[in-house]
Amino acid sequence: MSELRLYNTLTRRKEVFAPREPGPVRVYSCGPTVYGHAHLGNMRPYLFADLLKKTLRYFGYEVRHVMNITDVGHLVSDADEGEDKIELAAREEGVSAWDVAQKWTDVFKADLARLGVEEPDIWCKATDHIEEQIEMIRRLEEKGFTYRTSDGIYFDTSRDPHYGELARLNLEQQQAQERIGGTTDKRHPSDFAVWKLSPEEGPRRQMEWDSPWGRGFPGWHIECSAMSSHYLGESFDIHTGGVDHIPVHHTNEIAQSEGAYGKRPWVKVWMHSAWMMFEKAKMSKSEGTTVTLDHLIEQGIEPGAYRFFHLNAHYRQQTSYSEEAIEGSRAAYQRLVRHARELRGGSDSRGADLVEGFRARFRAALADDLNAPQALAVTWEVVRSDSLGSVEKWRLLCEFDSVLGLRLEGAAAVDVETDARIDALVRERDEARASKAWARADELRDQLREEGIVLEDSRKGTRWHRA
Ligand code: AMP
Ligand code: ZN
Repeated sequence: MSELRLYNTLTRRKEVFAPREPGPVRVYSCGPTVYGHAHLGNMRPYLFADLLKKTLRYFGYEVRHVMNITDVGHLVSDADEGEDKIELAAREEGVSAWDVAQKWTDVFKADLARLGVEEPDIWCKATDHIEEQIEMIRRLEEKGFTYRTSDGIYFDTSRDPHYGELARLNLEQQQAQERIGGTTDKRHPSDFAVWKLSPEEGPRRQMEWDSPWGRGFPGWHIECSAMSSHYLGESFDIHTGGVDHIPVHHTNEIAQSEGAYGKRPWVKVWMHSAWMMFEKAKMSKSEGTTVTLDHLIEQGIEPGAYRFFHLNAHYRQQTSYSEEAIEGSRAAYQRLVRHARELRGGSDSRGADLVEGFRARFRAALADDLNAPQALAVTWEVVRSDSLGSVEKWRLLCEFDSVLGLRLEGAAAVDVETDARIDALVRERDEARASKAWARADELRDQLREEGIVLEDSRKGTRWHRA
């Protein structure tokens, strides 16, 4: 039996995973800031967290998963400067900050569902937990970790001898942070706001609350410290996020939580997914290059193909997104779905004695810090094997898919005959359009629409998918 080994950013090593306590493995994932449409890169940390969760279950653990929605307090700059991203979006869109947050939360959740990312056991919004955050700041204040500046209450990082351990921060990096920006009356460049006071001048904030320190709003980092421990306890097993969270957000979460609760390490295993580059540029919502899941679907690329794209790279490996890359993943994903369709309902049973060997190799791949590309390679070996019968292949495929999350069982259930018939109707419509028989083309389009088929016309011809 392979033991599950996970790479811990805190120790920079792969470690054999052992939960802190009997009972469910307690996992917290940093969720999105809901001020705009999440792009494809934003989905990576959640696809990764889903793989982690499904793997833990495959290894026999129960999981308690909590994920937050940042709907207040994340400023345009991570250095506590600039406007709140949500208030800014509200002004630009001419709607309320609450509506902005609700709208993008709904869109985000719908995107996760389309990708087959399971919902956490608990969703928590920063604005629903202001009391818990105030309580945590009060605790930090009592222990002497905070001080007041002209614009808020700050965490004094010099009071924490372990500050920056996760990111291996050094003084040089901290000075670099200072150059990026920082309030003038902060004591140290790495100090960060736990409570920001509403500005006395300028437009009034829509989201603000009374607190022992004055009217204002919580800093971004305090929400994750307060909510994770509220739901998972003062110390827990695994915390996930993107690599960009390491130097500031997670570093500050650790400082606050270890300061408030006095437990070290606050979280046993820190896991981070790597960046996805987009045609050589870093894809960030804040930088404006946004390809969304909707764009993919409009091009006739199924969400499953995008999930497959990510399974082809290790979660700690930087990936590069391009049209060619996603087309390649799509073709491979569809091949796998075709295999699944052929295997489903088969009755040829052979090679039962080989099943355990395939299973052990699949498990070993996952045990090695969630090596999904390797796990996929074993999956291909199963479907292509000459020694296994369709019964054994189908059983293994469904079992493996409980981790891969490609929903192969559902995809295989779609009737192949229907697909062939729809292909033919789409071709007929293309021919009608080519010969300018518009009425016939429209008739066919309407017929297809009634069957729930969405057509996407492009230079490369017409593609279709089910609504
Ligand atoms: P943003 O709203 O741009 O701050 O992104 C929210 C989160 O999504 C970040 O904290 C990252 O962890 C993740 N993320 C954003 N862009 C990418 C990307 N191109 N590749 C992987 N993860 C990303
Ligand atoms: Zn967080």
